[in-house]
Amino acid sequence: VKEQGRNGYRYYSAEFTRQAQQRIELEQQLREAIKQQQFVIYYQPQVRLDNCQIIGAEALVRWEHPQRGRLAPNEFIPLAEQTGLICKLGQWVLNEACRQMQTWLGAGYRLETMSVNFSKRQLTEGNFVEQVNQALRSSNLPASFLEMEIVESLIMEQSDEVMAALDELRLMGVSLAIDDFGTGYSSLAYLKQLPVGTLKIDRSFVRDIPDDPSDCAIVKAIMALADSLQLEVVAEGVETAEQATFLSDILCPKAQGYYYRPPISAQAFEALLRNSHSD
Ligand code: C2E
Ligand code: CA
Ligand code: CA
Ligand code: CA
Repeated sequence: VKEQGRNGYRYYSAEFTRQAQQRIELEQQLREAIKQQQFVIYYQPQVRLDNCQIIGAEALVRWEHPQRGRLAPNEFIPLAEQTGLICKLGQWVLNEACRQMQTWLGAGYRLETMSVNFSKRQLTEGNFVEQVNQALRSSNLPASFLEMEIVESLIMEQSDEVMAALDELRLMGVSLAIDDFGTGYSSLAYLKQLPVGTLKIDRSFVRDIPDDPSDCAIVKAIMALADSLQLEVVAEGVETAEQATFLSDILCPKAQGYYYRPPISAQAFEALLRNSHSD
């Protein structure tokens, strides 16, 4: 038994070393990827529920890894966050999403919002007001078309400084969406302190509507809250016609999800815009 234990230890320690090595390797590759711009943005349509018109997009980054193919954000965003590389990556995404949005607006497509995700270190390190400003200036995108998405769990831990910066952005016209709303285990007090414009109902509440009475009640309660505070609502993760119908019946204004489209390349998004505008 003792022998086994020692082998076990040796095994785990080898496994640990291997994982640490992989991490270091991935970190180096990530640094290189930022230099060589191996990232692409996929855009997921946001639709108006009453007429299914595309009214916006969420920018979702992918890494075109030279050996491993296209990687989803969960395979590299956490490491980018831990190493601080997220700041550079986030800046690139912001610039690119603004540039793309301005191109689509310039082509005459009537979109309302481009949503861009911001992570923890982007808010706390560097000057994100200046970064947003720079992205808007260099793309010529009017600020009112940009929406910052911040997950609810990040909101509560923000300093007065970050709060003030978000307010500054609102004054410029940039809007703020609370991502994964309902999962942050936070008090709702921030809703009156922060310049929130949109609640994005987390997909865990959308998944089991209309069958699960609790989820239906939660979604309705979020709608009522948003109504009385005059906030926009986007239901995330809509996958079925039944979910869409339920949301539409309770007058949820906007939705996003595989039922409409998964995140798609800029080219595919534009083709979609072209077709829907020619109807
Ligand atoms: P998120 O912000 O909650 O983005 C929505 C995620 O749900 C996306 O995953 C999207 O592909 C997926 N999704 C959309 N519709 C459906 C649906 O109907 N059903 C299901 N099951 N999933 C759906 P993705 O693209 O893999 O992104 C995962 C997360 O990575 C994002 O979650 C976001 O937190 C993060 N992320 C993506 N791009 C960026 C970025 O540029 N910066 C930062 N900081 N984070 C990003
Ligand atoms: Ca998001
Ligand atoms: Ca707006
Ligand atoms: Ca979300």
